[in-house]
Amino acid sequence: MPYTYDDQNIFAKILRGEIPNKTVMETEHTLAFEDIRPQAPVHVLVIPKGPYVTYDHFAQEASDAEIVDFTRTVGAVCAKMGVSAAEAAGCRFISNAGDHGVQEVPHLHIHILGGRPLGRMLARD
Ligand code: AMP
Repeated sequence: MPYTYDDQNIFAKILRGEIPNKTVMETEHTLAFEDIRPQAPVHVLVIPKGPYVTYDHFAQEASDAEIVDFTRTVGAVCAKMGVSAAEAAGCRFISNAGDHGVQEVPHLHIHILGGRPLGRMLARD
């Protein structure tokens, strides 16, 4: 079944300039901005400008140029925010997808979280 993109989601509105954001970095194909409800001292969201719902959607259907730009921007944001594991204490990358992933906003985003120890990846039941 094909992915269905809802262009009324909040990140689509950010990309159209309909609602404000705190931009960390912008490139031809990618936008990085601060999460409105930060869960760590550094909490940045990186999104492609194209209409992709999840990371797997992006990985399957985005152009090489979009994928390279997005991936390089993730790296550049880590360096800019001082959370690179090479030069600082590191961070966590999260991309929630669909119902089981508990994805709130149906536009691909990678959370970059850092600035404090983050505990285990998943809470144990
Ligand atoms: P997820 O559960 O992975 O879909 O996460 C969605 C994230 O988007 C949450 O961490 C929200 O705090 C964040 N968020 C929702 N609305 C905005 C907004 N207008 N600006 C920045 N971040 C937002």
